[in-house]
Amino acid sequence: MSSAAMSSNDTMMVIALVSFAVLGWLFCAFYTAGRARANGRNYHLWLTIGLLLGPIAFVLSLVLFRSIGERHRRQRYGEGGKYDVPEMMTCPGCGESVPRSYGSCQFCGASLSRGKRK
Ligand SMILES: [Zn+2]
Repeated sequence: MSSAAMSSNDTMMVIALVSFAVLGWLFCAFYTAGRARANGRNYHLWLTIGLLLGPIAFVLSLVLFRSIGERHRRQRYGEGGKYDVPEMMTCPGCGESVPRSYGSCQFCGASLSRGKRK
């Protein structure tokens, strides 16, 4: 640092830049945490990661949580994008309609795995 005094304009500029960076950093942290929560992850854990990593966590959340979110939806609603209507099948044991994604019949407990019957 030179001993020359900074002008007040320079000081204001530095303050503006620092607050802008801090705001951007906080935005990254909260955006990351919100995205984590939307994907069923720990909000506070990812808020901490976001505060530590800032823009890096922001990029991470864009990459990680989109794919995790899709995987979640697929696990919950089945393959093929039928998010609202689960695919139904007839139980081989009792004849009731049960979602195919269930491992076993919710009425009689028979196994629903295709082709395999006990
Ligand atoms: Zn059944």
